[in-house]
Formats: sequence, structure tokens, C-alpha cells
Amino acid sequence: MSRGERAEPDAQSTPVPPASTHSRGRTVIVVGGGPAGLLAARRLLRAGASVTVLEAAERTGGRVSRLELDGLALDAGAESFAVRDGDVERLLTELGLRDGIVAPLPSPAWVVGPTRAYPLPRAGWMGIPVHPFAPDVVEAIGILGALRVWWERLLPVADPGPDATAGEVFRHRLGRRATSRLVEPVVKGIYSRPLDELPFAALGPGTGAGMVRHGGLVALATARRAASPAGSAVRGLVGGVATLTEALAREVRSLGGVIRTGAAVESARRSDDGGWTVTVAGQAPLAAGEVVMAVPQAAVVRLLPDVDPAREPREPGQAVLVTLVLDAPELAGAPRGTGVLAVDGVTRAKALTHATAKWAWLAERARDRHIVRLSYDARAIRDLDRDGPVAQEGSLVRAALRDASRLLDVHLTPERLRASAVVAWPDSAPADGPVVEVGEGLSLVGSAAGLTGLAAIASEDFVLSHS
Ligand SMILES: Cc1cc2nc3c(=O)[nH]c(=O)nc-3n(C[C@H](O)[C@H](O)[C@H](O)COP(=O)(O)OP(=O)(O)OC[C@H]3O[C@@H](n4cnc5c(N)ncnc54)[C@H](O)[C@@H]3O)c2cc1C
Repeated sequence: MSRGERAEPDAQSTPVPPASTHSRGRTVIVVGGGPAGLLAARRLLRAGASVTVLEAAERTGGRVSRLELDGLALDAGAESFAVRDGDVERLLTELGLRDGIVAPLPSPAWVVGPTRAYPLPRAGWMGIPVHPFAPDVVEAIGILGALRVWWERLLPVADPGPDATAGEVFRHRLGRRATSRLVEPVVKGIYSRPLDELPFAALGPGTGAGMVRHGGLVALATARRAASPAGSAVRGLVGGVATLTEALAREVRSLGGVIRTGAAVESARRSDDGGWTVTVAGQAPLAAGEVVMAVPQAAVVRLLPDVDPAREPREPGQAVLVTLVLDAPELAGAPRGTGVLAVDGVTRAKALTHATAKWAWLAERARDRHIVRLSYDARAIRDLDRDGPVAQEGSLVRAALRDASRLLDVHLTPERLRASAVVAWPDSAPADGPVVEVGEGLSLVGSAAGLTGLAAIASEDFVLSHS
């Protein structure tokens, strides 16, 4: 059996339609088996369509998949979801996973800069403090910085428009201290780009309008905080959030959908009869009435050669996650809470999550081991890349140990390392909005549609609206 023909063991129930059968019923090919593709497949199957998911990797899940390390099942990429409108919780309930929803342990994240470390103020949104004079805000930015944030309510408010960078808007409205010490570490951690290279509009549709409506950034942050339930705005899942994509894949199959892994799509073109012809490396072309693109944006443009791009997709950023399993009893007290944001190049890593201090279920399974995850962006690891992938992995792990020592303020020698894993995510940059026009028989979901994060993906209804 060739690579392109490999089907997951229980994926045989519905055959892929041969050419020209799509007129007999609604047949859909979903390109990409990450959370968005699997969710789209589930929706379509429940609406009565015949669905085939084509996934290039050997397993489904995309950036929400699993990593086995030192006998532990860990999340390889995403590890939590935003509670926001409750869509992920609703989905988990439908999948029978509601009892596994857990809140992170309640210690704050920290920020580590070149000269000082401080806890990130608890009441904030995107690092914007909701109470400018709260003691944790004053500790982080000083009384003058706090005063400057308070003063923002007196500034006139206008939508900054598509060309303004996040750096310009935040500095103008909140001042330099709050921007560099509070907002930048958080926003850079999410968007993997310096504030001065990130369009303010990329912070989400409606952020500019929301700022105008509420009368400023602090007021917008206050409204966003009020809209989310008390406590942490994120949740996890016992066993990791990859449990969600695994359950979705199971349900897709039980509803009669076909999932083909190891099936890298090369192109999707409109056929003469108004349907689509999809080519997969090493296989005969497949026909379907509709195509759903559920791949990162750069791939959308490449795989649809006959569809004019609405704009150039953004250069895909690379994120690298280094997971370390450590014997380090001094971490038992969670010296830097659930994680650390690094500012001003204090380490090559931009952030660290102390996963066993964040998730009780994981601490229980890890027993006396500690698990930390460090994230790097492409720029930070470029100079480690000289000697090829193997050397790079070794030097990255060594760099990660040094960075973890600095960020957690403990001395972590190589002997303390039980196991490590380096996972590179080539298309990690959040998307800016659709890169092609959807049309008859063509839908975009998830990152293809410009959405980032499980909460956004779970709330969308693109597939059915373009049928
Ligand atoms: C390191 C990291 C951490 C993250 N943490 C979180 C988090 O904690 N919470 C959160 O909500 N979000 C998080 N995100 C974002 C979240 O993972 C993404 O928004 C989400 O996975 C996007 O889902 P998707 O299905 O659109 O794309 P993906 O998850 O990228 O899935 C796309 C799938 O398409 C497949 N594919 C690509 N090309 C082809 C092709 N030619 N043919 C067939 N298949 C193809 C890929 O192999 C992949 O399986 C994180 C992202 C990264 C990189």
C-alpha cells in the first residue's frame, strides 16, 4: 500500500466517491485533519454529507496532538482553551468529555526581565491591567507607570485602522512602561511577533471598534474580563487537550466519515461538472462536490492553484516547543508560578510553562518529575541551526536547560534531565483573515479562515453556511 493510500484502521466504512458521483448526494473532501478539519467533518456528517478527511501527517490532530515522553502522554502543541463563549465546553460535553475539564492551578504567571522578575498582574487582558493602582500593577510598573495607565481614560479614542501597529497603539495609550513590561510579554507570547511588527488589527476582529465603543483600552480590557467567567479564562482537559481531537476523530469515523492519514494533498481544482478534483501524492485523483480547506494559510493558496488569492498569505512563522522532563525537587514549590514570560531578550526562549505546576492531573501522573515547556520562535533559534537538525536538537535542549535555569531561578544541570522533546511547528503564525474568497462548494475553516485557537475554531459555522 502506498503512503497516499494508507487509511487509519477503522476508516473503511465510507468509500471515497469515484469521479462524477458527487451529484448523487452531498460529498465533501476536508483537506487537513487538525481540530478545524475534524470539527467541520463532524458538522457535515451530522448534516447528512458523505465526508473524507485527508491528512498529510501520520496522525490527526494538527497542532492539537499528543507527545509521548518518559512514559507520559503530553500535549505536543496546544495545551488549553479559552473559555470565552463556552463553545469548547459545549463541544466537550457533546463528546462526553465534560468531566475532564479542569482549571489551571491558581498561581500567577511571572515576567522575567534583565534586572527583575515580577508576577503578572492577575486582573488583565492581553497584559492590559484592569485596575491600574492594584498592588501587583504598581509592583510591576511603578506608581508613575500606573498613573500613566490610569490617564488613558482621558485620551480621545479613534479606531487606529489597518495600518497602525500594536506597538504604536499600546505605547500611545498606555505609555512605555506598561507596554514593555506587561503588554509586550503577553502579546508576543501569543502572536510570536514584536509589537512593532504586529498590526493592531491582528489582535482580533472588533478590537479597534471595541476600544472605541468602550472608550479606551483599559475599558475594553475591563469589558473582556467581565465577559469571561470568574477565575482563569482558560481551561485544560485531563489527559491533555489532544484528547479533544482524538475524540473528534473517533466520532467522525463512527458517523461514517473516512479519515486518511499520510495523505498529502497536492491540489484541489474545479472540475468540468462543477465539483472538485483533489490530487493526493501518489494516488488517483479524488472527486467531490465540495472542498473544505482546513490547512494553514500558506497551504491554502498553494493547494488552490485556480483560485485567485485575496491577498498574499503572511510569511509562515516557525514556533519550536522544547519539553523537558526534570528531576528537580526544588521546583515543587512552583517558584515562578505556572509559567514565565521572558522580556527584552533575557533568554532565547520567549516563554516557559511549568506544566506540572499548572495542571494538577499532570503533576499527579508525573509524580516526583517536573515538566516544563519552553517556546522559541524562528529568529531565536536561527543561530543554533548551523550544524543541521541533530546538532540543532542537542543545542536547543542545552539552551532550553540554561533558559529554564534562568527563568525559574534554579540551577538545572544536564544530569537533572530525564527526557526531552523538540517539536517544530512550521506554520505557527496566527492568521490575518481569509486569503481566498470562499465560493460555491469551497469553504475555509480554522486557520485557513483566519482563526486562531480552539475557542475561535469551535465557534465558527463556516462549513454549513457555504453549502
Ligand atoms: C505551539 C502552539 C501552541 C498552541 N497553544 C494553543 C493553546 O494552548 N490553546 C489554543 O486554543 N490554541 C493554541 N494554539 C493554536 C491552535 O493550535 C491552532 O489555532 C489550531 O490548531 C488550528 O487548527 P487548524 O485545524 O486550523 O490547523 P492545524 O492544527 O494546523 O491542522 C492543520 C492540519 O492540516 C494538515 N495539512 C497541512 N497541509 C496539508 C496537505 N497538503 N494535505 C493534507 N493535510 C495537510 C496538517 O498536517 C495538520 O494536521 C497553539 C499553536 C501552537 C503552534
